[in-house]
Formats: sequence, C-alpha cells, structure tokens
Amino acid sequence: LNIRTISSSYLYDGISPSPDEGIEEEKAVVEEEKPGPVQIVRASESDYIFELDTAALERILLQDHLKDLNVVVVSVAGAFRKGKSFLLDFMLRYMYNQQSDSWIGGDDEPLTGFKWRGGCERETTGIQAWSDVFVVEKPDGSKVAVLLVDTQGAFDSQSTLKDSATVFALSTMTSSVQVYNLSHNIQEDDLQHLQLFTEYGRLAMEETESKPFQSLMFLIRDWSFPYEHTYGLEGGNTLLRKRLEVKNYQHEELQNVRKHIDSCFTKISCFLLPHPGLKVSTNPHFDGRLKDVEDDFKTQLAELVPLLLAPHRLVEKEISGSKITCRDLVEYFKAYIKIYQGDELPHPKSMLQATAEANNLTAVAGAKDLYSKSMEQVCGGDQPYMAPADLERCHAAFCADSVKHFRSIKKMGGEEFCQRYQKQLKSELEEAYTNFSKHNEGKNIFYAARTPATLFVVMFF
Ligand code: GDP
Ligand code: MG
Repeated sequence: LNIRTISSSYLYDGISPSPDEGIEEEKAVVEEEKPGPVQIVRASESDYIFELDTAALERILLQDHLKDLNVVVVSVAGAFRKGKSFLLDFMLRYMYNQQSDSWIGGDDEPLTGFKWRGGCERETTGIQAWSDVFVVEKPDGSKVAVLLVDTQGAFDSQSTLKDSATVFALSTMTSSVQVYNLSHNIQEDDLQHLQLFTEYGRLAMEETESKPFQSLMFLIRDWSFPYEHTYGLEGGNTLLRKRLEVKNYQHEELQNVRKHIDSCFTKISCFLLPHPGLKVSTNPHFDGRLKDVEDDFKTQLAELVPLLLAPHRLVEKEISGSKITCRDLVEYFKAYIKIYQGDELPHPKSMLQATAEANNLTAVAGAKDLYSKSMEQVCGGDQPYMAPADLERCHAAFCADSVKHFRSIKKMGGEEFCQRYQKQLKSELEEAYTNFSKHNEGKNIFYAARTPATLFVVMFF
C-alpha cells in the first residue's frame, strides 16, 4: 500500500518519466485483486479435450486461510442462455451481504458478477469458479469455505452431448449441491444426463454405504403452470415426484434411471421459478436492475437463494462418506479430469477407480500433514536440540498416530488397494523423519560449536 501511495504521489508531482505507464501498472494491480469468474475447466475448441487449469484452481483453493477448511461447492449447471449466470449473481449478492435483509439489492443497481448477457452466440463449454471463496460460520460454530461454480454445456444436439454430459458429470462429482438449471419443464433428455451417475452410484455403493452424491436440485425457469404446481419448492417437489414415476411404457433405460436416481443422491428436490418478465428476456438494454424484474420472480428468488446458501443449509462436500477440504478438492479435480479426457464418456468403473485413487491420495496427504505438524512441535525450527533416542521415540509414536488416522478415513478401492497407499505413507514418513533428524543434528553441531565460545566469553569476563 505504501509503495502504491508513493508511486501515485510521484505521478501527481509530475516526477515520473512516463506517467501513463504508471497508471497502467496500477490498473493491472487493481484488476488482479478484483474478484471475478475464473475458467477452471475448458473444452479446447479444436478437439474438445477437457483441460483443467490447475494453477488457477490452486490459486483459489490453496490460500492459507482456506486450504484446511471443509468445502461447500454450489454449482449451477445447464445449457447456455438459460439465466444461470443471472441467478449466480444474485447468489453472489447474498454471499457478500449475508447479514443484511436487503441482500437482494436496490431497484436501480445493475447486476454484476458472472458475465451474463442476451443474444445467442456460443460461449466456452466448461466450468467457471468465482475467485472469492466465502468463509461462513455454521450454526454449530464450525467454519466452512463456500465455492460458487458456473457450469456450461451446449446440451442441444447429439454432437455436443458428450461434452455437455462431461461438464455435467464433472461438476456433479465435484459439488455438494448441484443446481440443474432447466427451461420450462423437466424433459426426458434432461434425465438422460443422469444416467452415467446411476450406474456409478450402484458400483460406488457396493463399496461404501454412503450415497455417492449429495444434493441435486432441478431448477425450472419460466415455469408457466402455477395452477398445476405452485411456484417454489413445494410445487417443484410434487412435479418432480410425478416426473420420476416409473411407467411401463417408458424405455427400459429411462425406467432404470428413475429407479436408481434416488440411490445416488442424498437429496433430490425441485424448485419452480416464474418468468422474470419480458424486459429481462428480450430487452437488449436490460442491465439487471430489479425494477425491470417481475415481482413474482423476485419473491421466489428471495426464497430460493437462502434455501441453497443460508449458513444452516450449507452442505459440506463429502466423498465416500468423508468431508473434504479445499486442498482435497484440488486433488479430486485432478483425478476426475483425467477420466474425462478420452474420446468416450468414461465407464462408471473408471470413475470409481479415480475416486478410490484420490480418496487414498488425500488420506495419505492428510496423515502425513498430521505427522509433520506433531514433529514440528517437538523438533521444529524454534525447538532446541533433542537427544536422538527421544526423537526416535516421538517419531515412532507420531508414525503410529498417522497410520491410524489414515486407516480411519473412509476410502474406496478395498483393503489391498489401501495397503498400497499405506506403504507409500510409511515410506514418506521415513523420508520426513530423515529430514527432521538431519535438522536436529544441525542444531547439535551449532550447540557444540557455540558452547566453548560462550564459555570462553563468560570466563574472560
Ligand atoms: P447463462 O448462459 O445460462 O448463464 O444465461 P445468462 O445468465 O447469461 O442469461 C441469458 C439471458 O437470459 C439474459 O438475457 C438474461 O436477462 C435472461 N434471463 C435470466 N434469467 C431468466 C429467466 O429466468 N427466464 C428467461 N426467460 N430469461 C432469463
Ligand atoms: Mg453464463
């Protein structure tokens, strides 16, 4: 801050040789700090291979104040131009103004955040995350990190079906709440996107008792039959029950989706939103201000957003029955993106394999972290030299704790698979121990070298 103040005073004094450059530089600094959407997964345009921007994801999730917090991931998925970003921007308003009753904003405030716009050009297929992760205290006092995610696919033709199924699958696997944004109604092909999961879910549940996914909310935009099913959650849920009914005339696959969908998600719900009004849907000059939005829509919006984001509603992300941290989430993204990089949609078995690997890897990382922290406490940089035998005893005890911690984390892949990672953990701990020992010895030499000198000084005086 000081540097910036100095440089701007230079500018005002006219001392800077090239004031324009200085201003540009300052703008760049400000721009970098401004929160905004970050593309974390994109489909490359030539070959539709999905790529994860690991560095961008890490910049968001590995911040010191976040990385060890349990993560809540709220994702909005669906086709282009169906008001997802528009909705997400109200979710942002809620997150930035949690404490206020008027979070929804003033009548004349243009809506900002995730870029939203009219028209019909294509946008990038992929996943965007909001760069600000919100730290929220739940009613029980625990702190969680809330990540908001915007997911886009084309969902419109056979040629793009694989891509949209991929982003939908990837975002469902990485989120704790998936809002499936649909227009007008729930159609058969909307349910088809869920097919992959139902098989994955069946396999996954042979391994752990917990359901593989958490909350799925169908969000129907422009609902126009409130006299059949009322706006909001209640009407939505009765509509959903009807849609998910298994009927004999349905294609067998669709019958199966319906039968299994319940077993994949802990919670499935549906919310009906009214049309926001013609200004929103057709006026090219509409900038999101609420005075141009229909009252019915605003009323329902004010219900919907807290349903998803109020502190007591937040759902922490769990994978195979364990809550995961922001740091873990990065590992899951890395593991999952790999299985979606082939030409075909992944087989549910490879989804399971990737989950099992990531389960074990994050468990190894967590267990090793526990060991390192305990060792730091007894022989870290600011601790005095320790007798090697004592250090070894500590090592043995912390090692046992670490392995116990590793074993206590629920993982997929079975015992044999888990043993492989337990071995890896042990060798990583031995390696860490070697380093701690060396460090400790270093202190000993220092101690030995210094003592006579100190003694000498003391004697001299
Ligand atoms: P996205 O591509 O799904 O993120 O859609 P956008 O949020 O960019 O919105 C696309 C267009 O739909 C914009 O012109 C919005 O004003 C408009 N829009 C936003 N919400 C709704 C809605 O609920 N119904 C309709 N019909 N249009 C909406
Ligand atoms: Mg959008």
